[in-house]
Amino acid sequence: MDNLFEITDLYLQYQSTKRVSGQVEKVNALNGVELSVRRGEILAIAGESGCGKSTLARAVIGLEKFNRGSICFEGHNIAEFSPEQMKTFRQKVQMVFQNPYASLNPKMKIYEILEEALVINTKYSKSERRDVILEKISQVGLDETCLEKYPHEFSGGQRQRIAIARALVLNPVCIVADEPVSALDVSIQAQIINLLNDLKEKYNLTIIFISHDLRVIKYLADRVAVMYLGEIVELSPAKELFEHPKHPYTKALLNAIPTFEKKKAQITLKGDLPSVTDLPLGCKFHTRCPEVMDICRTNHPVVDELKGNHCVRCWLYHTLD
Ligand code: SF4
Repeated sequence: MDNLFEITDLYLQYQSTKRVSGQVEKVNALNGVELSVRRGEILAIAGESGCGKSTLARAVIGLEKFNRGSICFEGHNIAEFSPEQMKTFRQKVQMVFQNPYASLNPKMKIYEILEEALVINTKYSKSERRDVILEKISQVGLDETCLEKYPHEFSGGQRQRIAIARALVLNPVCIVADEPVSALDVSIQAQIINLLNDLKEKYNLTIIFISHDLRVIKYLADRVAVMYLGEIVELSPAKELFEHPKHPYTKALLNAIPTFEKKKAQITLKGDLPSVTDLPLGCKFHTRCPEVMDICRTNHPVVDELKGNHCVRCWLYHTLD
């Protein structure tokens, strides 16, 4: 499987609206992200709110300017794209947002919403556009009667289906879905997750799935990257991660999932995420880690690759060469 994206040493810092002692605070949103996204996989990015996962998603689709590092798409650095290349890139990589209520223009009919992207980005005739729209709306499980309605006439789940249809009309190779089911009822969540899975199979789509909900991720993902304070602390095939979590932070996240079964990992997450304007030295998780050692407070852990394509950034797993 080849890599669709290669993200290398990615740093993104922006200025906060707050001032401390007259100085503008700097928010360290991404702190050296290294990640590859394989073509045709569902890669989930997990972590608490504020860990940087949505910022990473926005950087990947070219909506955030980063300070250092690179994002390569199909082998080309997106920071060096010409306006024309960026336009093509934006067709190939589409985003689905968390809130289907806010992401659809309330003044436009569904047909107009879906047609807009085709008018802007393609030279399709009116009848070709109609064919594409009918095909995509049926593939997300809706029928053509919905096309003459407005977004407010639909439920949350139906609106998210429409948002997915809008992402599909340009035949993308990748969809970046930022918490696409967290605003939906649990019963509807399952339908949208099944839909994404079906679409991945049908179109060999790559899906970058951002979520704080590990139950959803377990059901859907091929691989999982766990983020903490703007860096990836664990990356693994999903089955391996859920059966054999390594990083204390991942274990704590898994332990926080409500279940009636006996839990394997007994680490409880204490305290809040440290401020992104003042990152801890050493391991960024050391202020909350129940397994902290002296080295963790001063030295930033390196990434070690364990068996089963399982990578972890934690001194507990580092063996000196
Ligand atoms: Fe905990 Fe140390 Fe591992 Fe960080 S490096 S997760 S503080 S054991």
